[in-house]
Amino acid sequence: MRGAVIHAPGDVRFEERDDPTIINPTDAIIRTVATCVCGSDLWAYRGIEPVTEPHPMGHEYVGVVEEVGREVTSVKPGEFVIGSFATSDNTCPNCRNGYQSSCVHREFMSTCQAEYVRIPQAQGTLVATPDRPADELVPSLLTLSDVMGTGWYAAVAAEVRPGSTVAVVGDGAVGLCGVIAAKELGAERIIAMSRHEPRQRLAREFGATDIVTERGDEGVARIKDLTDGIGADSVLECVGTAESMLQALRSTRPGGNVGFVGVPHDVEIPGEELFFSHVGLRGGPAPVRGYLPDLIDRVWGGRIDPGKVFDLTLPLEQVAKGYKAMDERRAIKTLLLP
Ligand SMILES: [Zn+2]
Repeated sequence: MRGAVIHAPGDVRFEERDDPTIINPTDAIIRTVATCVCGSDLWAYRGIEPVTEPHPMGHEYVGVVEEVGREVTSVKPGEFVIGSFATSDNTCPNCRNGYQSSCVHREFMSTCQAEYVRIPQAQGTLVATPDRPADELVPSLLTLSDVMGTGWYAAVAAEVRPGSTVAVVGDGAVGLCGVIAAKELGAERIIAMSRHEPRQRLAREFGATDIVTERGDEGVARIKDLTDGIGADSVLECVGTAESMLQALRSTRPGGNVGFVGVPHDVEIPGEELFFSHVGLRGGPAPVRGYLPDLIDRVWGGRIDPGKVFDLTLPLEQVAKGYKAMDERRAIKTLLLP
């Protein structure tokens, strides 16, 4: 089969790779129906995460089950399935506590921009859809594998409640999905921070009520202006830089919460500032698996359409073009179809 391999920063190739096989009785093999490029894939593409040797890429996937190991009974060949970017048995204490992305058997998926993928812990990781989805539902279902589930977790971690005022830092796919989540969880006011007109438009379509174009201290000042000088109840940090994290912390009202889901790179929070802020922080890799049944329902019923974050669709063999377009910010998110 063929799949993406990164050789060096800026150098992603589509090449022949070994066919995945069942290694453990808890594995499944799926034939990829759709996969995509994630904002977090760009950390390696941009050389911010070192690429020490060539390795496969991709952690988002939907597909059809080809084969299952002998311990997998929850899904069967022929079914259309979605799984999280982090595998989980869905039975250990961390899974039962709702933190499947800290499963004691967790592995991070990393081979999904390919024609076939091996899914470890398939019994707990994969969820089958009610039926084969219509083609137009596939992009939205694919977002549940990471970005929509991550945006959902950001909103849950920031304790968005009916009537809340929410600010979203980051206008990438996760931030935009965070807007959807905030709306679904009943936020009354959703302030999206974005300087890019097409992303602002999508944020509004997803439920943003206000747009703030300023960043850093000026962005914080704008959020304060919009909230009677107090700050937002909940802030979703969906970037992972030092600037975005401090912007999120400083935009939150005393007693409010930050949900941070951007993978932190060189982020340091001054302890004294955190202490006096009275702000709660919760973040980490999103327990996407736990949200899958509910989010599949919302997509299946046409209630949410997070697939709109894909503004570029390419055949999988042109995966390198997809990275380049996202790196140059010409695309929010690239959908790849084998
Ligand atoms: Zn577990």
